Amino acid sequence: MDTLNRFLFDNHPIRGEITRLEQTYQAILDNHTYPVAVQTLLGELLVVTSLLTATLKFEGDIAVQLQGDGALSLAVVNGNDQQQLRGVARVNGDIADDATLKDMVGNGYIVITITPKNGERYQGIVGLEKETLIGCIENYFMQSEQLPTRLFVKTGVHNNKPMAAGILLQVLPANDNTDESFEHLSALTETITSEELLQLSTDEILYRLYNQEEVRLFETHEITFKCICSRQRCEDSLMTLPENEVDEILKEDGGNIDIHCDYCGKHYSFDAIDIAEMRSKRKVNYH
Ligand SMILES: [Zn+2]
Repeated sequence: MDTLNRFLFDNHPIRGEITRLEQTYQAILDNHTYPVAVQTLLGELLVVTSLLTATLKFEGDIAVQLQGDGALSLAVVNGNDQQQLRGVARVNGDIADDATLKDMVGNGYIVITITPKNGERYQGIVGLEKETLIGCIENYFMQSEQLPTRLFVKTGVHNNKPMAAGILLQVLPANDNTDESFEHLSALTETITSEELLQLSTDEILYRLYNQEEVRLFETHEITFKCICSRQRCEDSLMTLPENEVDEILKEDGGNIDIHCDYCGKHYSFDAIDIAEMRSKRKVNYH
């Protein structure tokens, strides 16, 4: 099971989160043949989004999106407060196995969109000023929340399956003189190896890192892959197009409009009869 846990230290004003993802990561890589470097980046993006989502204090969702003029034009992961995640990348061109973030994205930036169920949408834009995605996200926390935050993220293969995991440490708001605690716990956390983070259980990792500390571990939340696409959503977006345009696509595509979801690989097909039904349904609704 993919999991997320929050934890606190009794003797330090620092909070933590730990997330471990296997099936969700696999689901995002399924039905795609991404270059190795993009697979790794999607794993990191997945961990980052899960950790970010867990910092939400309200119902809603988060999208973390990388975009630029490089061969990787887009990589995005969406998550919500239920820890349901999905993600996709768009690649046009070759990407070397050892490509850096800049190599892949080119001139680009990260857009973080937070959409509360009730309330206003917030959007933060972070430049690619650091060499890694993780460095850029740490910058984002500093800029947007003025809270020192460290992320420790690893991706790799465990039991022949892709696996991604990460730990977040963040200073609790409204605390002074936190530097020493934060540095101390960061130094401890930095000693985690990929093998440990990917293979050990959450309890084992926390014991391995903080056995000299008093750690309070909170309940486990399950993380799942969930796509929000549906036939209804496809219908809704088709109905926003002018009728003649829809008729044109129908004709060109041999009597069927095929909509393919990049996130989960599902296909939705609409023929002329479906379209006619959708239109009459809408006309009834208007009266
Ligand atoms: Zn889908």
